[in-house]
Parts: sequence; structure tokens; C-alpha cells
Amino acid sequence: MYSLRFQLLFSIVAAATGTVVAASLFNSTPLFSAALFIFSIIFSYGVLYFFVVKPFRKIASLVESQKTKETAQRVVIETSDEFLRLSDTLNTIFDSFRSDISRMKKLEHVRTEFLGNVSHELRTPIFSTQGLLETLLSGAIDDKKVNKDFVQKALNNTERLNSLLGELIDISRIESGEMKLRFRFFDIVLFLQNIVQEMQIPASQRKIQLKLDGDVSKQIDVYGDKDRLQQVIVNLIDNAIKYSEPNDMIAVHFVEKKDRVEVSVEDTGIGIAPQHLPRIFERFYRVDRDRSREMGGTGLGLAIVKHIVEAHDAEIKVTSDVGVGSKFTFWVNKQV
Ligand code: ADP
Repeated sequence: MYSLRFQLLFSIVAAATGTVVAASLFNSTPLFSAALFIFSIIFSYGVLYFFVVKPFRKIASLVESQKTKETAQRVVIETSDEFLRLSDTLNTIFDSFRSDISRMKKLEHVRTEFLGNVSHELRTPIFSTQGLLETLLSGAIDDKKVNKDFVQKALNNTERLNSLLGELIDISRIESGEMKLRFRFFDIVLFLQNIVQEMQIPASQRKIQLKLDGDVSKQIDVYGDKDRLQQVIVNLIDNAIKYSEPNDMIAVHFVEKKDRVEVSVEDTGIGIAPQHLPRIFERFYRVDRDRSREMGGTGLGLAIVKHIVEAHDAEIKVTSDVGVGSKFTFWVNKQV
């Protein structure tokens, strides 16, 4: 492939040579000289047309085709290095425009859906509290059979609102990058022992057995944000309690690997059907909305858990069988 400069030069030289030769032959063979002159002009115009005008037209139609996504096309012009570079650059720019626009549209959709979910989640406990207070005011306050129950329900609603707001603040701080993690080394064995001990109370309230499974005889130092990792494990145990029945069992396993410690929270609870598994880490996604609400769930817990685990350069996985139980596994690195 020749450069555009060479092609222009070639066209000028062809026209000039043709003209000079035609002029020098004009006296001896005027007809041939005139024909040569016309031929050299047409030839050099042809060169210009093929190597300059046509590529420019292609560029113009490439730009024009970007007006709508449906007509957008990619054009590669191989007549010269310059046009090849120009068409490549334009294709790249337009490709990235298109993907930016579709990403922005997707974000806009996610934002609208998120706002819709938030207002729905806020509205439910607010309306319920409003209804309870109105009923109390219009006479139920003196009815000893229901008054305490109504006040308790209103209080539960405010607690729900409080935890929903807490989790909303958490998720927006994580997603905006405002939440800074405080990494340090700590002993994960002692850490898990303490959490499992604390979570015995809510577990036993639902008659669920909770135990720690792993080698507790030695200290294993890991590197992470202790408070945030506590949030992860408490959330997973809390879910295991919420989605299990009395007499079910929960085990927190930990296994030391070469460069990490793998932690899993396994329950013998209700389990999750395979079609829900890929979605449970999405914000506000719940398998059984009513059960989640009844248990004080906000639908944000696992989304927060996933964010925190990923901020630790790790992953969280889930396996589950309906009626058999679920197992959530993640890891914490031992090194910086
Ligand atoms: P929620 O506040 O509703 O518990 P999460 O984000 O923590 O929200 O979990 C999302 C959904 O995943 C829950 O509503 C529930 O349907 C399902 N889920 C989470 N953990 C478990 C579990 N251990 N067993 C069964 N289902 C679970």
C-alpha cells in the first residue's frame, strides 16, 4: 500500500509529463498530442478520484451512518496508509461512543429500577406504621387485646426502616468508592470463634444449632478489614438463620490454604432453587419476598457481602439445593 503523498505526487507527475510530452509533439503530430494531453488529464483525475475522492466519500458515509445505531457501519479503507489509519481511528471512536451510550442507558435503567425499589421498600413499613397508628388513635388504643401488639408492630417497622437505611447508606458508600477499607493483619481463628459465640443467641432463639468447624489449635493471620469481614460473616450466618427451620444446623467452616483461608457458612435450611442462584447477589433480589420481609430482610445483605468480598480481592460462591441447604464460600488472603 502506498502513502497518500506518493499517490498525489504520482497523479501530478503523470499530468505534468503528459502535458509536457503533448506540448513537445504538438507541431509534428497535433492530433496525437491533443489525445495524449486529454488522456494524461483523465488518467491523473482517475488516480485522484480513486485514491482521494472515493476514500473521502467512504469516510463521509461512515460518519453519516453513525446517526442511528441501526445504520451504523464500520468501514475499512485500504487505498493508502493515511486513509487506513483514519478509518481505523474513526471506527474505534464510534465503537467506543456506541458502547458508552449503551452503558449509560443501562446505568440509567439500573438507577431508575433502584430508586423504584428503594421507594417501594420505604413505603411499605411507613404505610403499615401509619395504618397502625391511625387504628390506635381511632379507638384501638383502649382495646387491651390489640393495643400492645399494634405498638410492637409499629416499633418493628421503625426497626426495619432503620436497618434498610443503614444498608442503603452502606451500599451507596461502597459503590461510590467512599467507603475506605482499613486493612490489617488479624487472627481469623479467634475472630471466627468470637462471631460464632455472639451469633449463638439469635440461632438458639430459633432453635438452630450453630458451630465452628476447623483447626482452632493455632493462630492464622489474614490480611483484611476486620469490621467489614465481620459484617460479611454475620450477614451470612444471619441469612442461614432466617432461611432455616427449627432443629436445622449451621456450620462455619474454615480451611487454611497456601496463600489464603477459605471460609464457608453452610446451613441445612430451605435452600435456593437453581434459577435464583445467579441473581441472589443483586440488590433487592429475594427468592421469597414475604419470608424475607417477615424475617426483617432488606434484600441488600448479599449485595453488600459481595462488594466487601470483592474489595478484598476475593470471590464469593454459593451452592444450594432446595430442601437440603445452602453453602456460601469466600476466602481471605494471608498476604498484602
Ligand atoms: P434478605 O435481606 O432478603 O435476606 P439478602 O441479599 O441477604 O436479602 O439475600 C437475598 C435472597 O437470597 C434472600 O431474600 C433469600 O431468598 C436468599 N437467601 C440468602 N441466603 C440464603 C440461605 N442461606 N438460604 C436460603 N436462601 C437464602
